[in-house]
Amino acid sequence: MVALQDLIRSGQLLELGCYACKRHAYIDASCFDVPSQTPSFKVCDAIACPACGVRNAEPGFPLWSRPDARPPTLALGRFAYPSTAGSQ
Ligand SMILES: [Zn+2]
Repeated sequence: MVALQDLIRSGQLLELGCYACKRHAYIDASCFDVPSQTPSFKVCDAIACPACGVRNAEPGFPLWSRPDARPPTLALGRFAYPSTAGSQ
């Protein structure tokens, strides 16, 4: 299990996605106001979508999160939410 503090320690980003507004982004793991021992896949349950404000209390659990799974060379670029990947 990868916790938020593991991402912060290694400099890895957290990928956050939202099915409600169809956005997803890679965000610095230290930006979240949740306990650092929170599992990375549980972060989405503790926050609201930064773009549309939806929460996982809504039906269908629209938010998801996971550790940045891109190869390290691609992960060098940091994108600010709510830009959508692949829209350029
Ligand atoms: Zn959203």
